[in-house]
Amino acid sequence: MAKIIYTHTDEAPLLATYSFLPIVSAYAKKAGVGIETRDISLAGRILAQFGLADDALSELGELTGHPEANIIKLPNISASVPQLKAAIKELQEKGYALPDYPESASDTHGSIVRAKYAKAVGSVVNPVLRQGNSDRRAPLSVKAYARKHPHVNKPFGESSKTAVATMSDHDFKHNEKSVTLAADDMLTITLETADGEKKVLLPELRVLAGEVVDATSLQVSELHKFLRDALAQAKASGVLFSVHLKATMMKVSDPIIFGHVVQAYFSDIFAKYGDDLAAAGLSANDGLGSILSGLPALPNGTEIEKAFEAALEAGPRLSYVNSDKGITNLHVPSDVIVDASMPAMIRNGGKLWGADGGTDDTLAVIPDSSYAGVYATVIEDVKKNGPLDPATIGTVPNVGLMAQAAEEYGSHNKTFEIPADGTVTVTNAAGEVLLSHQVAAGDIWRACQTKDIPVRDWVRLAVARARDSKTPAVFWLDENRAHDAELIKKVRAYLPEHDTDGLEIKILAPDQATAYSLERIRAGLDTISVTGNVLRDYNTDLFPILEVGTSAKMLSIVPLIAGGGLFETGAGGSAPKHVQQLVSDNYLRWDSLGEFFALVPSLEQYAAYAKAPAARVLADALDRATATFLEADRSPGRKLGTLDNRGSHFYLALYWAQELAAQTEDAGLADAFKNLAETLTAAEPAIVSELAAVQGKPADIGGYYLPDDEKASAVMRPSKTFNEALASL
Ligand code: NAP
Ligand code: MG
Repeated sequence: MAKIIYTHTDEAPLLATYSFLPIVSAYAKKAGVGIETRDISLAGRILAQFGLADDALSELGELTGHPEANIIKLPNISASVPQLKAAIKELQEKGYALPDYPESASDTHGSIVRAKYAKAVGSVVNPVLRQGNSDRRAPLSVKAYARKHPHVNKPFGESSKTAVATMSDHDFKHNEKSVTLAADDMLTITLETADGEKKVLLPELRVLAGEVVDATSLQVSELHKFLRDALAQAKASGVLFSVHLKATMMKVSDPIIFGHVVQAYFSDIFAKYGDDLAAAGLSANDGLGSILSGLPALPNGTEIEKAFEAALEAGPRLSYVNSDKGITNLHVPSDVIVDASMPAMIRNGGKLWGADGGTDDTLAVIPDSSYAGVYATVIEDVKKNGPLDPATIGTVPNVGLMAQAAEEYGSHNKTFEIPADGTVTVTNAAGEVLLSHQVAAGDIWRACQTKDIPVRDWVRLAVARARDSKTPAVFWLDENRAHDAELIKKVRAYLPEHDTDGLEIKILAPDQATAYSLERIRAGLDTISVTGNVLRDYNTDLFPILEVGTSAKMLSIVPLIAGGGLFETGAGGSAPKHVQQLVSDNYLRWDSLGEFFALVPSLEQYAAYAKAPAARVLADALDRATATFLEADRSPGRKLGTLDNRGSHFYLALYWAQELAAQTEDAGLADAFKNLAETLTAAEPAIVSELAAVQGKPADIGGYYLPDDEKASAVMRPSKTFNEALASL
């Protein structure tokens, strides 16, 4: 039977779900629409690994291969190892019989447990569910709202020293090699060491005809030179030093790179005490925070702690994630995530926070140069032409390649920290060498796959979006980069399969595409960015944050290749800072607009698939209610004392009920919602004051990774009047 699956995830979106889902379920029920939930939270995924909960993620992954799939996917935590450990601890304290996270895989038991936990780390949800390409845009109503209520993009200072530092050679971009496979094959990845030993890194990598396979390496000796220079440059010019990586999605490569940055900053300490730290299991890859918290257990811990303090004093000033709490840019690998952190910095006039809580210019270090130029180009543009004005600029929607785990770089099973000098080769079943790299111990080598069907579908989707929205489309591909050169051949081959008459379709390298899109956006013109998987992620934070202040207000649809739909909510993450605010002040600033937007096409698809016209009436009414919601400015404020997430849900429920009561297409539904619309309209002042009354005190939700259902529900549904009105439906 057709149904909509609403996902339970983590942090702020999970809290919002405690308030919003009861509304959705109650309304949907009246229209005969079945809604079920599935838990794909970090806690749920950990428990599933040990048979302590259903494996909802695998179930949903399977479902995406069927046309009835209709999944509303909220953002979830892509856990770093420190987050994983914290979640394990909380679950153990709640009585779940989970083993500790083994620090090493020294025995069989350790390796089995580690392998299970590895399945919960990093970006493990999205590659399973995203069995289609991505269509993300700011809906017209959101652009209209932003034009009317423009947020502030601060100007850069007159002589702003903010800049991007990136490698000019020897990195993933420059070392890349790529091939397109002529036939189905089985590949093997092997390291042949300088001593002549053959180590198979990956015995069997199945590939299909037409698939693009590439390999590349980041040379660690060169990374160290680059980092030494960047540290010296930041110190000399007196700006903050900040590093911007994606340790969540690139879960293998980027924590290693992060560790090198920590080691480069504290090079003297690692030279002197490196063995002590290693013996105590304290790894630079886990960040300064985890090292500092482990020091008290060491006999010379106090001495090392003093050395860290002195190094921070002597080195370039670090940017801070939280100045009050002393959390630096180097504390936690997953605190600073490039796609969210760079646009936030640009919106803030190129400034980040320093140790004293004041803001300053920064040297933003993005080691690999594949996409660093995009941010450098935006920074140059804003320095030259001033900040982008949300009241007048156009928009840059995105069509992103991501189906069948296309271009999942740096994660999963094809990225390795090379143990010894030698040559890494990718060979086919016939033993022919397809790709080969000279490597040194410590280099990071990665391979990446991109299947043909997703590329073909991506080209189709790009043309369809360009046609539907009458907007020029630019493929962000660099003919001088090996992988992109292969994709360009495919784009050129597949474009003629579509009617592109009268459409403007270009292929530009990312830096030029950025400059071109910025020039147009300043003139109030729209340009679709048709990108690979990584730029899909980056651009759908970058442009929304500059255009409408946040990536939360995005329509984010994944038309599944098998015919169903995955409806993501917004383009942002799970906003951990919002949880802190709820716990300390009982105030949740999470904006659920992304959920509202996702629900509309989900209901539409339900209506079409289940031949249930009432679901379409529900969708149309919700669409109009959301427009009223924006018009009336009912999104949560940022600060205590204003309307928060719960209040915003009340208003959505009110407008939605009013629209349902007023529509004439389905008399039964109109009748069903008549009383509720009247009750909510009359009770508005009472409900708003009941919601306001709870603010300002700490809130107990009974956990972080696995909140207590009853407690969280009580916190998120504090208006008796509203709850009773809903129950009466
Ligand atoms: P983030 O969660 O997007 O948070 C960055 C900031 O964006 C927030 O602090 C908040 O700004 C703003 N924001 C995002 N969504 C919002 C919403 N709906 N309403 C209001 N403000 C919103 O990015 P992050 O801190 O880089 O990542 C946090 C976690 O989310 C990580 O575990 C990451 O892996 C995960 N993530 C998941 C997905 C996904 O599942 N699709 C996508 C991205 C990230 P203010 O604090 O200024 O209000
Ligand atoms: Mg992103």
